[in-house]
Amino acid sequence: MGVALVSIIFAKLKKENPMAIIITDECINCGACEPECPNNAIYEPSEDWKFEEGTELKGDVILPNGKKINASESQDPIDEDVYYIVPDKCTECKGFHDEPQCAAVCPVDCCVPDENIVESETVLLAKNNFFIENKLVILLLVFSMNRIFFSFGFYSCLFF
Ligand code: SF4
Ligand code: SF4
Repeated sequence: MGVALVSIIFAKLKKENPMAIIITDECINCGACEPECPNNAIYEPSEDWKFEEGTELKGDVILPNGKKINASESQDPIDEDVYYIVPDKCTECKGFHDEPQCAAVCPVDCCVPDENIVESETVLLAKNNFFIENKLVILLLVFSMNRIFFSFGFYSCLFF
């Protein structure tokens, strides 16, 4: 009874406090995880990375966690030897998939929870919404511009 109760509480805590995903040194650099990431948070060893890649963030931005970044600036690689995940870009696939896609495709199971970085589900979803909202703003701008140009072209035809 006691063990079952502890298990239930632990499962609930784990669900409410998911851990970021990290790639361990056991990575064989097969590259299978990189194209699966919805946020482009996975990079090749020794490759520079940017926030704007896969997120549509541009220039100076304040992330939902309060961190100020420049999304267009190149950042130093986090790992020189194996593929790595940028923690601030990883949403653990929340909002896209039911489980981390990198872990789902990794042939050697080296995409594992990072016990040093625990983020609540609320924070991960806020991060995901933040990335998506920026994408939506750009889509709306493009849509509005198309409408303006279409209307201008239509009325021009009436007068010329
Ligand atoms: S958990 Fe999802 S968002 Fe995070 S690195 Fe893996 S594939 Fe990308
Ligand atoms: S799928 Fe696994 S082994 Fe392959 S590059 Fe990604 S982390 Fe490394």
